[in-house]
Amino acid sequence: MNIHEYQAKEILRREGVPIPPGEIATTPAQAEQIARRLGGVVVVKAQVHAGGRGKAGGVKLAKTAAEAGEVASRILGMQIKGLIVEKVLVTEAADIASEAYVGVIIDRASKRAVFMVSPDGGIDIEEVAAKSPDRIMRLPVDPRYGLLPFEAMRMGFFLYRDVANARAAARIMQQLYHAFIHSGASLAEINPLVTTQSGDVLALDAKMVIDDNELDRRPDIAALRDESAEDTSELHARRANLTFIKLDGDVGCIVNGAGLAMATMDLVKYYGGEPANFLDIGGSSSPEKVVNALRIITADAGVKAILFNIFGGITRTDDVANGIVTATRHNPLTVPLVIRLTGTNEEIALAILAENGFSATRDMDDAVQRVVALAKGGAK
Ligand code: GDP
Ligand code: MN
Repeated sequence: MNIHEYQAKEILRREGVPIPPGEIATTPAQAEQIARRLGGVVVVKAQVHAGGRGKAGGVKLAKTAAEAGEVASRILGMQIKGLIVEKVLVTEAADIASEAYVGVIIDRASKRAVFMVSPDGGIDIEEVAAKSPDRIMRLPVDPRYGLLPFEAMRMGFFLYRDVANARAAARIMQQLYHAFIHSGASLAEINPLVTTQSGDVLALDAKMVIDDNELDRRPDIAALRDESAEDTSELHARRANLTFIKLDGDVGCIVNGAGLAMATMDLVKYYGGEPANFLDIGGSSSPEKVVNALRIITADAGVKAILFNIFGGITRTDDVANGIVTATRHNPLTVPLVIRLTGTNEEIALAILAENGFSATRDMDDAVQRVVALAKGGAK
């Protein structure tokens, strides 16, 4: 789950991370009022679940309260990476002397939280990693001890020569690590961590991604979810208990089981197609799951053909067939459908489909080749 910058900052502030004060506005008038209250120069920042807001024009300085209102009226409603800005954070501007990067992520390979820090902050860390990897320090944290003071100090000195700055950065890293662990995050990032002309070390931006599997035991964190900021198809899928990831291609895939879903996407690619999504309807699939899955996939205008790939084990293929018939009875499909199913109750499933005018195959290669051709506008 993604949370907004202002929410991540709230979590970090509670840990003691120094962050300039700020408030959220949904209208230009509110932004102006907040700026007046804060006094001095402010920054108006788009709150969307996307990075690179600065480059996209979603982060702007304003010298007066009136200017903050004007800037907010331009940022509110703008689109950044396909997401509409509905809120802005109005926050005190800092007088930046230098920008560094501090992040902690879960590294699957070492099964640890790993810090990544760089004195070259502000910009994309991926760019630093590609162009000057020696400017990034990586430090895996032993979960038995947490981030130890000397480790935090080593990273602090990697960022700053100045002892006071290094100490301040080390303290912030300890606080960041604590926030990371206690909110069940898979990523927590401060970019930029800045030094100011007056000698302070401050976090000016914060990003946290929460592991969905942690949400059940952290209701306070789960409550931070902003559904209005999420992709609508992923939102509907989550409500219907489907595992769904939207991708950029045009072949809609409805599959049972994550392994088969991965294999199906591989095969679509192998035959020259591009999957529009990853969708796992799960092991035991009721007809409603199929109805929901079809509704989500057909809502995507980019989908040019749909593939069902069902291997019936626990899943009864007749349940899937009934789901297809029910879903299409009320909402006839406007794109071609290819059905591959085999396994439990396949004879019954094939009969149900045939009675309702659908054809199906047992052969996965055959089905994938057909759906790829159909998505490209070719013959069946
Ligand atoms: P992002 O582009 O989505 O990562 O948004 P950031 O919050 O990181 O802002 C992008 C850039 O805007 C930063 O790297 C800074 O250079 C600049 N910026 C952000 N806040 C301030 C501020 O308080 N003062 C100044 N002078 N620049 C800021
Ligand atoms: Mn940033």
